[in-house]
Amino acid sequence: MTDFHYDLIAIGGGSGGLSVAQRAASYGAKTLVIERDNRLGGTCVNRGCVPKKIMWYGAQTLENIHKAKGYSVDVELKGADWGALVGKREANISGINNWYNGYLSNANVDVVHGDSYFDGPNRIKVGDQLYTADHIVIAPGGAPTVPDLPGADLGMTSDGFFELVSMPKRVAVVGAGYIAVELAGVLRGFGAETDLMIRKDFALRSFDPIIQTTAMATMQAQGIKVHTQCTPTALNRTADGIIVETQNGSLGAYDAVIWAIGRHPLTGSLALDTAGVEVNAQGYIPTDKYQKTNVDGIYAIGDVTGQAQLTPVAIAAGRRLGDRLFGGKTEAHLDYENIPTVVFTHPPIGIVGMTEPEARKAFGEDKVTAYQTQFGPMVDTFEDNPHPTVMKLVTVGEEEKVVGIHMMGTGVDEMLQGFAVALKMGATKADFDNTVAIHPTSSEELVTLKPDHIVKN
Ligand SMILES: Cc1cc2nc3c(=O)[nH]c(=O)nc-3n(C[C@H](O)[C@H](O)[C@H](O)COP(=O)(O)OP(=O)(O)OC[C@H]3O[C@@H](n4cnc5c(N)ncnc54)[C@H](O)[C@@H]3O)c2cc1C
Repeated sequence: MTDFHYDLIAIGGGSGGLSVAQRAASYGAKTLVIERDNRLGGTCVNRGCVPKKIMWYGAQTLENIHKAKGYSVDVELKGADWGALVGKREANISGINNWYNGYLSNANVDVVHGDSYFDGPNRIKVGDQLYTADHIVIAPGGAPTVPDLPGADLGMTSDGFFELVSMPKRVAVVGAGYIAVELAGVLRGFGAETDLMIRKDFALRSFDPIIQTTAMATMQAQGIKVHTQCTPTALNRTADGIIVETQNGSLGAYDAVIWAIGRHPLTGSLALDTAGVEVNAQGYIPTDKYQKTNVDGIYAIGDVTGQAQLTPVAIAAGRRLGDRLFGGKTEAHLDYENIPTVVFTHPPIGIVGMTEPEARKAFGEDKVTAYQTQFGPMVDTFEDNPHPTVMKLVTVGEEEKVVGIHMMGTGVDEMLQGFAVALKMGATKADFDNTVAIHPTSSEELVTLKPDHIVKN
């Protein structure tokens, strides 16, 4: 044993690592978090959810100012100071980083800053310093992927986006996932000429068709130029800016090109082979439902597992693992079914459960009844061309158990959580119908769906 022996070591001071360490320490376990960044909090706090949502609020505020005229509010928009907002955002994040320092110290969690790697099953090194533990939790998260093509480093990733201290006026965002559409939405909201380049015909391809089509139409109506069937092959710098070469010709010039084509797990530098930990072909670490890897005493949580890559998922998995290892809750584990999630587009998207095609495939075409509605939200009463709100309820069987809820529209981000509880509890369409509507709201539409809303295929 070394002087640096712990009950539990967490590799990574992000959502997952911090949660498991804090929960383990709450039961008296001797716990260490190793974080290679000089700031705690990981992707969510420093380069993800938090700075993203602040920029989203900024873009929403601008949108609300544009709507003010409709409500006979006489405001003159003199502009938005991107750099000033970024300064305040980063100060806010520093506060969260500092709060973590105090919080971990009060929770009796030791913290070491440095790059860590395995030196055998129970052995972790930071530089030459050895740490050993009975339980090691791998939670290093992931990083944005940059394609391997000529000039790719002329572009930036979401990490670079959060370093921008002024708004690029002409931007290309490459990618079709939630990060791509969110960043494109923020940039367009602040007034940038924004192009979105996607490989196929729709963004958000894993989402329900109603969300894919509405998101595409809404982004285009907002002035985001969506290039479908568009795959960049090279980037070139010219005097006018960055040119994106694609299989169909050149696009640009742009002041910034943002790669949002996916993320990869940060397992490459962990020397996992010295501990015998298996990774899959993409580098993700497979686990069982208790977050156990193939090696006893070694666990993986959060983005590195490749499952539902969201902060509350990493936190929930970490806390349950801490409860199981040190809190006597021998069966504690995270249920990865029916995880609600929001995409912060303008307006936002909220989803939980199965898409209609997934449900039809899983239960049989004739077992599924889907209800769908589209309307102009009341807040946009005075808008000439309001963005539609869409909602879909996917139900199964004669009892019409709700297995999927899919929404895009103003307020659905805050609306979803409660409906997700109902879905998780096994609510039926009749339960929704028996709940008295709240009027006038958009959410009442979800409890007043009629047979004429049934989707006919
Ligand atoms: C742009 C963007 C927006 C997002 N928005 C949302 C959102 O709105 N809602 C949501 O729920 N999720 C969002 N996410 C996802 C969310 O940030 C992640 O799911 C979450 O941070 C995963 O937590 P984690 O603990 O697995 O990894 P991370 O939070 O990434 O933490 C891992 C930590 O490990 C450290 N590390 C890596 N390797 C080592 C090593 N060898 N030694 C020591 N330390 C190491 C890293 O520096 C990092 O701090 C967003 C992500 C991005 C990129």
